[in-house]
Amino acid sequence: MVPEGHTIHRLSRDLRSDFGTHPVKASSPQGRFQNGSTQINGKTLSKSEAWGKHLFLSFDDELILHVHLGLIGKFRPHSIESSTTDTVRLRLEGKQAWHLTGPQKCALISIDEFVNVTDGLGPDPLRRGTRWNHFAENVALRRTPIAVSLLDQSVIAGIGNVYRAEFLFILGIHPERPSCELTDTEIRGLWELARAQLRQGVRLNRIVTVSREDSGSVPGRVNSDEALYVYKRESQPCRRCRAAIRITELGGRKCWWCDRCQPR
Ligand SMILES: [Zn+2]
Repeated sequence: MVPEGHTIHRLSRDLRSDFGTHPVKASSPQGRFQNGSTQINGKTLSKSEAWGKHLFLSFDDELILHVHLGLIGKFRPHSIESSTTDTVRLRLEGKQAWHLTGPQKCALISIDEFVNVTDGLGPDPLRRGTRWNHFAENVALRRTPIAVSLLDQSVIAGIGNVYRAEFLFILGIHPERPSCELTDTEIRGLWELARAQLRQGVRLNRIVTVSREDSGSVPGRVNSDEALYVYKRESQPCRRCRAAIRITELGGRKCWWCDRCQPR
């Protein structure tokens, strides 16, 4: 599954607790981040933060590593003894080894570049101090279908293709409704749901949107084939009304919905 905001916030947390205050060993087995890894090597992680799908790791308060996993990137823990392959762009060693492969972005950036990137991002429901009315203003300005706006990282940061389809289903909102026609209650509902769901995603380290009432078990125990309402479930019966789940394309990505539970 393509990483969404919860993955990056979880990563930020796990890296912080793994590296602690010890110097980090860094290398680039693939060689494409040789210079950067040399600069990081021996430095201490001073700050780790996520904003939407962007991860920023600061070392000794002077170097900022910017990572975006994109569609195929992975940043995963391995044992210290594990060997690396030439697909590993960056290897960081703390209590365990972290291998970054296939990122869309892996670069050392200046504070100005950091400000530039984050200025272009909408509010991230998992960041402290973010407010729902910023999200509401962004939505109200757009005529695009709400399913397209939710993927726009300048409207809300951290939502990907799984969450957008699931949130709209849970709230009974048709994916093609123009963003500016949503009511305040619906927009507020989207924000609150995003916050609750992303938090749960960080805790479980995966996406489970089906409620306890609908699945019959607590989210942590739900099987992966029963964890979602509509995502990749085209033609299968809706978990609530049994109508066949529909599929379309919105914002260049596939989108799933139930015509009966999400009337136009
Ligand atoms: Zn339905």
